[in-house]
Amino acid sequence: MKRWWHRLARWWRTTGDSDPQSLIWARIAATFPPIFTANQWVKQQQLAATFLRHKRFWGADGLTVTPEMAATVAFGAACYAHRAGIAIFDDFIGIVLYPAPFQVLRRWEDETGVVHEWPDTLEGETWAQGPVVLSWLSDPSERWAVVIHEFAHRFDAALGGIWNETWLSAWERAAQEPARLPFSPEALEDPGEFIAYTAEAFFLAAPRLKTWDLGLYSLWCQLTGLDPAAVTQVSHTNRKEPS
Ligand SMILES: [Zn+2]
Repeated sequence: MKRWWHRLARWWRTTGDSDPQSLIWARIAATFPPIFTANQWVKQQQLAATFLRHKRFWGADGLTVTPEMAATVAFGAACYAHRAGIAIFDDFIGIVLYPAPFQVLRRWEDETGVVHEWPDTLEGETWAQGPVVLSWLSDPSERWAVVIHEFAHRFDAALGGIWNETWLSAWERAAQEPARLPFSPEALEDPGEFIAYTAEAFFLAAPRLKTWDLGLYSLWCQLTGLDPAAVTQVSHTNRKEPS
């Protein structure tokens, strides 16, 4: 379980380059928006490497978790840790990865005591102290959205609930114009989902979120210590790219 870094390094060497460390992260970040300053980029790699060293990964439905998959998940988690520190994720030991969206059985007991059960298909799921459950989607931007989304739930819980007046006023605005949001209208399902979907917009479509609601964008900046919309240079592609 502590061997991910070595497996990652070995994986990198088999791709033909002898200088793995920063290039591993650059390769993973190549599908992620350029949201880090040069200093933040250094820190991002350190946070992701620490996460990788301390977490276990399990493949479900026959999936073999590759070092690149594990590193991608670690990279997503690290996005939240620039201000709070990666120790915010110490309350769970690992990540379960499915090869595709997975089915769970939902149970609900109605007021007459009748239990209803139905299958539900999920791309990711997380709950207090349990593992983070993710599906490895083939489209990189959809994959990042799932990773960012589930760690937003984890981040929210780790900080003891981040909902406040700023969220509420953004929520009320969103409810009035659900067709013009820079994130999925599914965000309006409940406050937890609103946080998770706006996190996707913050990391993956920062300029659009900033234009839509500066207060909400600034709150995310405060919480994460990042300012993605202000970054115009791609720090990680200044380095040598893999051939
Ligand atoms: Zn969610």
